Amino acid sequence: MFDSLSDRLTGALKDLRGKGRLSDADIDRTCREIRLALLEADVSLPVVRAFIARIKERAKGAEVSAALNPAQTVVKIVNEELIGILGGETRRVRFAKNPPTVIMLAGLQGAGKTTLAGKLGNWLKQQGHTPLLVACDLQRPGAVSQLQIVGERAGVQVFAPHPGTSIGGEGTLGVTSGDPVSVAKAGVDEAKAKHYDVVVIDTAGRLGIDAELMKQASDIRDATSPDEVLFVVDAMIGQDAVSTAEAFADGVGFTGVVLTKLDGDARGGAALSVREVTGQPIMFASSGEKLEDFDVFHPDRMASRILG
Ligand code: GDP
Repeated sequence: MFDSLSDRLTGALKDLRGKGRLSDADIDRTCREIRLALLEADVSLPVVRAFIARIKERAKGAEVSAALNPAQTVVKIVNEELIGILGGETRRVRFAKNPPTVIMLAGLQGAGKTTLAGKLGNWLKQQGHTPLLVACDLQRPGAVSQLQIVGERAGVQVFAPHPGTSIGGEGTLGVTSGDPVSVAKAGVDEAKAKHYDVVVIDTAGRLGIDAELMKQASDIRDATSPDEVLFVVDAMIGQDAVSTAEAFADGVGFTGVVLTKLDGDARGGAALSVREVTGQPIMFASSGEKLEDFDVFHPDRMASRILG
């Protein structure tokens, strides 16, 4: 991920080195190369335009002309602006004052929600929390048992409906399977009754955006009033990540983004576009199928990785 973008950007900036003063033509040429590198990495066009405009304005300003090392100052500007489009500050989970904190996962089928639920459960446990994973993806065959498997691997309890029977133990609602909204509500009640302090709700996705998917996700949201709704998106889907993010922002609304499959060889455009386009921060990054292939997303570290 980011390898070719990283090579192109460092290449573009290297050309400036060794020059004393930078002419406007030097800056224009570098900006052109950066622009091409970003477009080739599948970064969305409006994001590229705004990014280049900011770099150009700053690189032609007093900050660079007064600098002892103008080339290095341009690199610093590019780094700062990259951190900016990646979201600036690291955005931490907002835990509820009165537990349980409810975290709902939303996204297309195959985005990596169920895998993420296990990773998030594992991470929450490491942070000293007592999470409960709730299986509300009743659409995809095998999603419930997949969640049970990842929960077991992470050593985290899973709340799931048993096919054809009522769910929940004593003190929970006696709802039957097949109704994700009731399962979600019963899961939150179970967490309250048994003192789990974080509930992670895995929801169903579709292969594409559709009204029914959005309705189900927003019904679950309305029924559980989540503290965080995380939009989970496969970073490999390139430009489509942006349109999918926009559709989920309109249809369900979310408070943060999780990028998955950062271990793939995609060009990285999704990572660089989704924050600017939706205004919501990237909070976590998933980079593999193992529980540990997961971390809080730090914009500054990602920018350093991209700039090499
Ligand atoms: P869901 O439909 O959104 O619940 O998606 P899943 O969690 O079932 O993930 C879909 C596929 O992507 C599975 O084969 C996962 O093992 C795989 N997957 C999930 N996250 C990652 C990741 O970060 N990297 C890689 N390489 N594969 C992943």
